[in-house]
Amino acid sequence: MGGEPGLITRKLLQLLMRPARVAGIETPLPRFRIVQLQGEALRNVGWMPGQKVQIAIGSGLASRTYTPMSWDEAAGSTRLLAFLHGDGPGSRWAAGLRAGDGCHLFGPRRSLDLTAPGAPLVLFGDETSFGLAASLRRDATLLFEAGDTGEAHAILAGIGIGHAMVLGRTVGDAHLLTMEAEIARHAVTGAHFALTGKASSIQRLIRCLRSAGVGSSRISSKAYWAPGKTGLD
Ligand SMILES: Cc1cc2nc3c(=O)[nH]c(=O)nc-3n(C[C@H](O)[C@H](O)[C@H](O)COP(=O)(O)OP(=O)(O)OC[C@H]3O[C@@H](n4cnc5c(N)ncnc54)[C@H](O)[C@@H]3O)c2cc1C
Repeated sequence: MGGEPGLITRKLLQLLMRPARVAGIETPLPRFRIVQLQGEALRNVGWMPGQKVQIAIGSGLASRTYTPMSWDEAAGSTRLLAFLHGDGPGSRWAAGLRAGDGCHLFGPRRSLDLTAPGAPLVLFGDETSFGLAASLRRDATLLFEAGDTGEAHAILAGIGIGHAMVLGRTVGDAHLLTMEAEIARHAVTGAHFALTGKASSIQRLIRCLRSAGVGSSRISSKAYWAPGKTGLD
């Protein structure tokens, strides 16, 4: 994709990033790819759910960020779930991947802190958070907004998640009123909240949680994208 990196870029990639190969690629639905990456450099990396990887895209030093669904440290392999939202370089990279392709990645690195001991976990997110959801403990409450709820339920079922609430996005974000009511219901349970996905939705739900008396120690958040912005990371 985008031509071969030049010599200096290649040297920098070798120094900073882990080389990997695409060991498998699945297209469970047209707008999703499950990408399995494998390589010696992916062994024994100390991954934890919620962490991110940044993948070099194209011929320069540009990268896009994804969340491992799982990481087999002994085998040196990880799986990502990429949502092809449109025509950005990351979406094009995922759409064009073939088994055997090479890539370079940075990480895994800290992103979302999910270490709250013992508390029930509530995850809010969207299509970009489904990979994260797959990496979480099975009793986590999963609340999503999505452009296409049928597609979302299908992909979630395909990755073994049958218990998520998915609200369809609406013009003017009216669906977030329902999401706010749902999230406020969990505020009284002492839960820890992990908020991911679209930046403006996260901001709104943080305000809702604050007014429900939830302290910042019970909220972890990480915006995965925002309209008109690239590379939020
Ligand atoms: C920590 C972290 C973890 C992430 N994990 C994942 C993951 O596991 N899987 C995944 O699919 N994505 C994930 N993302 C989101 C992903 O990096 C962004 O969606 C990224 O913008 C995609 O790159 P792109 O080149 O396709 O689009 P870009 O060129 O970066 O964006 C172009 C434009 O597209 C729009 N856009 C971007 N993302 C979306 C979207 N999801 N829906 C609608 N419009 C959008 C915006 O208007 C943006 O300005 C993560 C992001 C972060 C920061």
